[in-house]
Order: sequence, then C-alpha cells, then structure tokens
Amino acid sequence: MSARLVLLGAPGAGKGTQAARLSERLGVPAISTGDIFRANIKGGTELGRLAQSYTDKGELVPDSVTNDMVRARLAEADTAEGFLLDGYPRNTAQVAELDVILGEHGVALDGAVELTADPEIVTARLLKRAEIEGRVDDTEDVIRTRLAVYAEQTAPVAGLYAERNALVAVDGIGELDEVTERLVAAIAPLVG
Ligand code: AMP
Repeated sequence: MSARLVLLGAPGAGKGTQAARLSERLGVPAISTGDIFRANIKGGTELGRLAQSYTDKGELVPDSVTNDMVRARLAEADTAEGFLLDGYPRNTAQVAELDVILGEHGVALDGAVELTADPEIVTARLLKRAEIEGRVDDTEDVIRTRLAVYAEQTAPVAGLYAERNALVAVDGIGELDEVTERLVAAIAPLVG
C-alpha cells in the first residue's frame, strides 16, 4: 500500500517523534526538512551554510533552496511507494511546489495530518527539549519566532488542505502510543 502524506503541527507538537513511528507503521520514509538542514549544517556543506542563518533565527529558509532540496529527496528510490513529510510544506507557496513535484512523478498527495497541541504546552516542551538536546534554535527568543512563523505562514497550509477535503486533525496531547494509534486511525481512510 502506498502512502503520500504531509504531517503538520506547531514546533513542539511532537511531529518528529510521531513521524518516525508512523514511518515504521506505514513502511514509507519519514522526511524531515529540519533534519536535512541540520545534517547539512553539521557537515559544513554549501546548503548548510545557506540555511544556517535562517534556522538559527527560527525563520524559514528561502523557498528556492528548500524546494530544490525536497525535489531532490523525492526523486530518491525509497520514496516510490510514498513518504511522510515532516516540516514541509511550511507555507502556501511550498504547497503549490509540492503539487508540481508530485505531478512530475505522476502521483498525488493522499492527504495531510495535523497534530494539534496547546501553544503553552508546546512552548514548555520546546524549552525542555532545549535543555536535553541543546538545539541552537531552542532558545526562548527563537522559539517565540518559530511559533510566530508557524502561526503566520504554516497555519494557512492546513487551511489549504482542509479546502481540498484532504486534512485530518489529531489531538497531539497524550501518551506517545496513544497519539500514534490516533494518527494511524486518522490516516487509514486517507491511504485506504
Ligand atoms: P524543524 O526541525 O522542522 O523545526 O525545522 C528547523 C528549522 O529548519 C526551521 O525553523 C526552519 O528554519 C528550517 N526549515 C525546516 N523546514 C523548512 C521548510 N519547509 N521551509 C523553510 N524552512 C524550513
């Protein structure tokens, strides 16, 4: 069974953790644009140097850079049966570009899943993660920027998929396993 899905949710809503679990359940790769940027920054690549000035501030990396990176990743063989995108698309222009990329492969998105969480809870989670993982973009100022960017630029992405009747919302608060089961149940009708 193929599955071509987008996972949406505010920073700190638990997208990354759940994407890894869903990837296993669905048998398709989880693709996190944030992880790809971090790997490039760590590896000192040109893409990493380009991205870092934005990721450090919690701002979006320019679409031209991000879209090319996603186009290249979705051309890899392991996405033939699908993918779970985590952190892309992050604005409405990226939604349009994803449609174009998938069209180039003659496939379409099955739908988008939004992991919802109370803003106060996600802020607290992000601050805790900052202590544990030491991510440079988990400082209080940058967290505030990332949440504002999400509200301004990424929330409308959910609206677009809702207009297409291709959005399901899942409560992201609860035990990890419980949230995973909710996601699996919500996704079944999209990919079935
Ligand atoms: P994340 O790990 O998804 O929170 O992403 C970390 C950072 O990477 C974000 O704050 C952005 O600077 C950058 N980033 C990740 N995905 C995208 C995207 N789709 N478009 C632009 N920038 C992105």
